[in-house]
Amino acid sequence: ATAHEPAYLRGLNEPQRDAVLTSEGPVLVLAGAGTGKTAALTARLAHLIATRRAWPSEILAVTFTNKAAREMKERVGRIVGDAVEGMPWLGTFHSVAAKMLRRHAELVGLQANFTILDTDDQIRLLKQLIAAADIDEKRWPARLLAGCIDRWKNRGWIPAQVDAGESETYANGKGAELYARYQERLRTLNACDFGDLLLHMLTILKTNREVLELYQQRFKYIMVDEYQDTNQSQYLWLRLLAQERKNICCVGDDDQSIYSWRGAEIANILRFEKDFPGAKIIRLEQNYRSTPNILAAASGLIANNGGRLGKTLWTEHDDGEKVQVVGVWDGPEEARRIGEEIEALQRRGGHIADTAILVRAQFQTREFEDRFIAIGLPYRIVGGFRFYERQEIRDALAYLRIIAQPADDLAFERIVNTPKRGLGDKAVQKIHSVARATGQPLLAAAAQMLDTDELTPQARRALGNFVGDFARWRGKLNELPHGELARLVLDESGYTAMLQADRSAESAGRLENLAELTRAMEEYETLGAFLEHVSLVMENDAERDTEKVTIMTIHAAKGLEFGTVFLAGWEEGVFPSQRSLDEGGNSALEEERRLAYVAITRARHKCFIFHAANRRIYGQWTSSIPSRFVAELPDAHIEQESSMSGGESLWRANWSERADPFADVARGTTRGPGWRRAVTGGFERNPTRIVEVKASAVSLGNPGRTDISLGQRVFH
Ligand code: ATP
Ligand code: MG
Repeated sequence: ATAHEPAYLRGLNEPQRDAVLTSEGPVLVLAGAGTGKTAALTARLAHLIATRRAWPSEILAVTFTNKAAREMKERVGRIVGDAVEGMPWLGTFHSVAAKMLRRHAELVGLQANFTILDTDDQIRLLKQLIAAADIDEKRWPARLLAGCIDRWKNRGWIPAQVDAGESETYANGKGAELYARYQERLRTLNACDFGDLLLHMLTILKTNREVLELYQQRFKYIMVDEYQDTNQSQYLWLRLLAQERKNICCVGDDDQSIYSWRGAEIANILRFEKDFPGAKIIRLEQNYRSTPNILAAASGLIANNGGRLGKTLWTEHDDGEKVQVVGVWDGPEEARRIGEEIEALQRRGGHIADTAILVRAQFQTREFEDRFIAIGLPYRIVGGFRFYERQEIRDALAYLRIIAQPADDLAFERIVNTPKRGLGDKAVQKIHSVARATGQPLLAAAAQMLDTDELTPQARRALGNFVGDFARWRGKLNELPHGELARLVLDESGYTAMLQADRSAESAGRLENLAELTRAMEEYETLGAFLEHVSLVMENDAERDTEKVTIMTIHAAKGLEFGTVFLAGWEEGVFPSQRSLDEGGNSALEEERRLAYVAITRARHKCFIFHAANRRIYGQWTSSIPSRFVAELPDAHIEQESSMSGGESLWRANWSERADPFADVARGTTRGPGWRRAVTGGFERNPTRIVEVKASAVSLGNPGRTDISLGQRVFH
């Protein structure tokens, strides 16, 4: 390091510098968690701008979440100042693709103001198509078809590319045809779904040389974070864009690939070297995030996966505390214990904003919410029950969408009778048939119907008001600030009054959410910009500005770090998930294990792992045994504790009264007090009902050890 070294290089280690300074040609940074991949990528971005290798607008930088994009922009901004302002191409795959697609929409038969559908809209639309094709939706659910279409889009397939075998997966071969019809319908609606953002851009780049060359010229440098989670369509898109200049730098970690269910392919890491011959591979081995105990626990766990690219990790930190594995009686106790730990942390002066509870599945968060509300511990839930997915928010957005784009039929259907205004199914069906016959959007068809006697006088009056309202609101679009307009719309439509009249506990929260929505809108210059933002907030981003504990899924925590991390619900059937166990085979289980690796490596100083002996899942109590992942943690780096001693005698008593459900099952060796109790006692007693368990003995891959796995639960 020299005295004149630029700020962005300071503190970086040799291989990190290499990743920053090798600006020309393909570079792949392959390294474990917390080794400074994102830090190096950020410095690289600063370097390219500061040395004038490219204008900010000439760099394409893809992050996994909108929040990551914002952070990167902030960090680069601190280094290069205002130059960072014009970074239009820094964002998630979806946001970048959406921006491009708006410019070239007509090339795939859309208009620039196309709507981006959410899952609800998508399902509603598919249901209509399924019904029209005379397929029994009960047998072939729309969600199944949505899943197929998603998968095909993730692979970059347009309907004509879906092969026969794949098409078979829905309604005996009707999948591809329905996919084609779905795409047609989207086009008439001037809409697209998430998968389309990439797929359409891919189609455009493949079929339109001019556009391809435009972007190949524009993007002097391309960078991708969390590369292990790109899907095929994203990969093809990157490859096309980078093919000309080949200045592409991807960073990732094969052990952190956790989105295969969304089409991510680790194989993209291996393809990189093939598609970009001469690519420089850089490995980072020093971990700056976690203590050796945390790191060793995570490494020991992930070592149980096969087919890894393999890597070394080391750190200069002091050992730190061991990973603390805690066995508790049930879910509520887990929440109580974690609440106590956090309060103790607070008393010691720790920042709870630097604390997170990570769960495998969304349903696990409620227990913590209940507890934290009871003890007055501020928390935020990230992901899952995302703000913009709440019913009242979606209703409000539907009103706004129609104002922005009167042809938005899905929005129309959503709110035409919400609040109830006497426009029932019959009336809506009539509007539909007029729309079909005249080839107009529903709102236009509705307006036309006011002059006919197709509707009952009552329905006609209601529809007249409805149509008139929208005309008036649209007229105000340029007069009022759009937050104001939204408030007006909610009042005049009767939506606010509907919630006020509803005296349920929920409705107060809903009104608050709507107030929050109008507040949020004010941050955007136009209604269009706001709606675009909403459709792109897939990941509800964690803001950490206030002192709150974060509760989130492990999936949402990717790339983040916290001083203290609580990992809850490490039980067979919760984590690894029941679905991964049912699936059998190794690949689902290995993905769960990578998820566990991601979870542990989010912690800087302290990591707790909890497992409960009893858990209520979907309203039913089940007994559970600790996750195999607990057993896979290396002994030397963990500390086990069980809080169940008090309940032991009761537990034992119940045990002796009943036949041993494991009588014909080989009993394995177990370890640790929590573990042993859970195995020998986990199924004996159930707080609310008697459970008969058909268990099976399985070897979990540890030689010389057989553990009991929950085979099937039978409730009486
Ligand atoms: P993940 O795989 O979880 O995404 P990562 O490899 O992207 O992790 P970063 O988030 O970039 O890792 O860095 C982890 C932590 O280490 C951050 O707090 C970062 O500020 C710090 N860090 C990175 N590089 C260095 C360095 N050279 N010196 C000191 N600290 C560093
Ligand atoms: Mg990272």
